[in-house]
Amino acid sequence: MSKKEVILRIKPPITGLRSDSEVFRYDAFKCPSCQGRGYFTKNNEYHGSAGDDIDITDCHRCNGTGRLCANIVIRWMPDEVMGDFNTKK
Ligand SMILES: [Zn+2]
Repeated sequence: MSKKEVILRIKPPITGLRSDSEVFRYDAFKCPSCQGRGYFTKNNEYHGSAGDDIDITDCHRCNGTGRLCANIVIRWMPDEVMGDFNTKK
């Protein structure tokens, strides 16, 4: 079965400051907690009661929207820690 995925290729910008950051936002991901419904239902029916006693609560993860977004921040900085690591034998 086909599956939609988002791939972010990371490459430092040609020009920039010593410490730059980039922000990417990807939206319209279906909330996996509520399966995109935005809410949960709980049937309070018990044996012999009416079947229309249902509680509906919003999904707290997606705030009832049924969707999530990814806010990705990349901070570019000198690779000093890795540089020290690479010079140690
Ligand atoms: Zn949700």
